Amino acid sequence: MNYDHIVIRYGELSLKGRNRKLFTTPLHKTVIRAIKDFPNARVQKKRDRMYIELNGENPEPILERCKDIFGIQSLSLAIKADNDVEKIKDSALTLLKKSNPTTFKITTKRSNKEFPLDSQQMNQVLGGHLLVHTENITVDVHNPDLEITVDIREKATYLTSEKVLGAGGLPVGSAGKTLLLLSGGIDSPVAGYLAMKRGIELEAIHFHSPPYTSERAKEKVLDLAERLAYYGTSMKVHIIPFTALQQKIHREIPHGYSMTVMRRMMMRISEEVAKKEEILSLTTGESLGQVASQTMESMHAINAVTNYPVIRPLVTMDKDEIIRISERINMYDISIRPYEDCCTVFVPKSPKTKPRLEKVEQFESAVEFEQDIEEILANIETIHITPQMKQKDEMEDLL
Ligand code: ATP
Ligand code: MG
Repeated sequence: MNYDHIVIRYGELSLKGRNRKLFTTPLHKTVIRAIKDFPNARVQKKRDRMYIELNGENPEPILERCKDIFGIQSLSLAIKADNDVEKIKDSALTLLKKSNPTTFKITTKRSNKEFPLDSQQMNQVLGGHLLVHTENITVDVHNPDLEITVDIREKATYLTSEKVLGAGGLPVGSAGKTLLLLSGGIDSPVAGYLAMKRGIELEAIHFHSPPYTSERAKEKVLDLAERLAYYGTSMKVHIIPFTALQQKIHREIPHGYSMTVMRRMMMRISEEVAKKEEILSLTTGESLGQVASQTMESMHAINAVTNYPVIRPLVTMDKDEIIRISERINMYDISIRPYEDCCTVFVPKSPKTKPRLEKVEQFESAVEFEQDIEEILANIETIHITPQMKQKDEMEDLL
């Protein structure tokens, strides 16, 4: 007898009472998508759990894939048995023999109150059965090598031993959508990942300045988007033709302030795209104090151009913390590819680190930008990115 199911536990979701469906429905969809490369596997959604029925599929790669899905607290391989004491005894013995412990403990949970034995009686019956059919094994209720959990439900019993930690967070799609300002750098993909962890679905916007930035810089962004999609759902990436506007800013705005104005233009254009896509927030990879555009004064002057909530998941993080996440989620190797970003190309030698809002507004109002923004909005290229389910294995092969 082999493992025939994977149990998925929701964790934080179970706190959500009547709104539970808002969370379980996107999670269910994500799990279905995640296992579509395993044609025999099926998912059953229950109130407080999901079960993947393996139907002969190898559980390990499915477990690996599901560990990355937000909204899953923990997972376990399971053996399903009929609600019959003899059958449960057999399954418990099989499970015990898989790991050869020297001590064990049985924990029965009986949510099916029709079942003839209560939890305590089941613990005794099963414990006794295992002791009789094995040698040199004892019960240790405090610190066992192996704990077998026996979950007696309405229609069947699931026996599990080890718990694998899931990604935590909330299912992507349960907390609305954000427009991620995605550069090709290290920070913004991590910001997108952390927003998704709290259940937010992503669309991305990228400012592209050919010929100052190359086709490969754009490809890099699309590769990052594809890896982000692995953790969530398929997503749109809006590519913004930014060259003409950047050149104009460079020509018309005093150099100390050109970076602030460029960032404000990014915010304005992003807000317009968000409106059109019915998205209610923007997300950036800004981290306080990292560069000239990320001082408190800069953030104030840049932020003042939009009324939209700007989510900044990295605002208080150190660069090395951000890099650690980037590596763990397999973004880092793409982020460090050496192609220029539009901001680095046009960055002035000494941008103001403490720009004053009145001055920025004054410089901006002296130049006619409306037409340029209209032009940009009419020429956006939108690319649809779908998650590559096999991506993780392929990446591991490459390492
Ligand atoms: P990142 O590593 O994300 O590029 P950074 O440390 O280089 O960030 P900045 O270049 O100041 O910092 O960018 C701050 C934020 O502005 C980025 O995290 C990103 O959200 C946004 N941004 C910068 N350049 C672009 C771009 N070309 N297209 C879209 N968003 C951008
Ligand atoms: Mg950058």
